[in-house]
Amino acid sequence: MQVRPRRGFESTSEKLFSRVASRTTLLLLLLAATLASTTQLAAQAAASVTLLKASRMLDPRNGRVLASAAVLIEGDKIKQVGSSSEIGVPAGAKIIDLGTATMLPGLIDGHTHLLLDIVLPPEAERARRYNGTFVPDLLLAIVESPSKRVLLGAQHAREYLECGITTVRNLGHSGIDGDTELRDAINAGRIPGPRLAASGRKLITRASYVQSLNPALTDAILQQEFLLIDGADGARQAVRQNEFQGVDVIKVTADANLTVAELTAVVEEAHRAGLKVAVHAVDKTSIQTAIDAGGDSIEHGNEVTEQQLKQMRDKGIFFDLTPTSYGDFFTKIFQGTIAESLTMRAARLEADESDRQRYHDLAEQVRQSGFHGGFEAHDNQLYDSLVQRVLKSGVKFAAGTDMCWHYPGKTCGQASTSRFPTLHAAGMPSLDVIRAITTNAAEMLGWQDRVGAIERGKFADIVAVSGDPIADISELERVRFVMKGGQVVRNELLSH
Ligand SMILES: [Zn+2]
Repeated sequence: MQVRPRRGFESTSEKLFSRVASRTTLLLLLLAATLASTTQLAAQAAASVTLLKASRMLDPRNGRVLASAAVLIEGDKIKQVGSSSEIGVPAGAKIIDLGTATMLPGLIDGHTHLLLDIVLPPEAERARRYNGTFVPDLLLAIVESPSKRVLLGAQHAREYLECGITTVRNLGHSGIDGDTELRDAINAGRIPGPRLAASGRKLITRASYVQSLNPALTDAILQQEFLLIDGADGARQAVRQNEFQGVDVIKVTADANLTVAELTAVVEEAHRAGLKVAVHAVDKTSIQTAIDAGGDSIEHGNEVTEQQLKQMRDKGIFFDLTPTSYGDFFTKIFQGTIAESLTMRAARLEADESDRQRYHDLAEQVRQSGFHGGFEAHDNQLYDSLVQRVLKSGVKFAAGTDMCWHYPGKTCGQASTSRFPTLHAAGMPSLDVIRAITTNAAEMLGWQDRVGAIERGKFADIVAVSGDPIADISELERVRFVMKGGQVVRNELLSH
């Protein structure tokens, strides 16, 4: 129904009122505009200026090291980069001198799951409660309180930032809106954390991940964590659903059940909305589906062939290496988990001191022993060859930790940064490792205009280590200074 305007029946007082009202509106608008520009000026005047200095600054793009480096920061952006002698110090600038340290761009983890903290279960429990690739804790994460889960994500976000990871791409397992809300809370300054590219719910086919759920509740459970792809139209719907939720990237799991037509629909719909598509693909068939459909990055890619690497290179598809289980990672967390539970039991024991001591000794034995629970999921030799083939192929590559495990004795950030040096152990030169988690990762995210390099106009996301990360890549596990957007998060280096 439309309401007709009362033309011809306007009283004089009404006319007068409307004239006064419009004049008042004009005045108010003028006042608001003046206030806005005054506020803007005040904000500009208040934008803090910082001069950050260190003996060395590594540029991952070309491997050059600038001696006596200085970075002039205004507000949250980099204004000027050069040697100390080139850059004048503006009046009132705050000076932070990192001494003999090496500065490099803030680290970027291309593949995270901030809202997971899985305790690795013993083999017997895994076998008894077999549920596809889902360990019991993964299911628990879905059915627990989303509020509790997002607070866990907040803890992890802080831990990542403290370890020098200033940007992450979070690829699923966050409930419906856990990671988009976490991102917004960080951006609003409510909690500390890295810049976060959020994928929202992961798109999967019905056969992926979870089996043996209560049939009466299956869909209700799945919808808390995933969007199901069922045909090309369903695939488009799933992307739109995430788009509505305000995601930054689309994450899809490709398996033997996902068709090229379905994934192509996902890619088309995502690209239409300006979103990139990260495809989890491990086996040859899934990797081929991802290539044929034109995904933007392939996550994991364990079984990639030479031919597929060539196709990826020609199409400009990123290879996102995830060295999560490389080395003795699972042995370490398995030992740690058993030792932790023995220590906790000792603490609870009401028995005498000698009993408690026995448990403590046992815990220490487990920590020290070569004993493990058979969780070496990865053939390290295969991983070495994968890393070297990726390097040789000329395909664009980045790296992500895929960290989702509870690592006793380490924060989530420490567990994650322990993964980067393993790329070097697998044969990747240090400079390429650093590129994989700075410059290259920024391009993979499509954020190369804002992060990934210490350059004028980019966010002042800068970290520093005491030594030379090219000579010793494990320096990345010991980040001593962290700045995000011009704000110092951590500084363990003496200021002179
Ligand atoms: Zn993952």
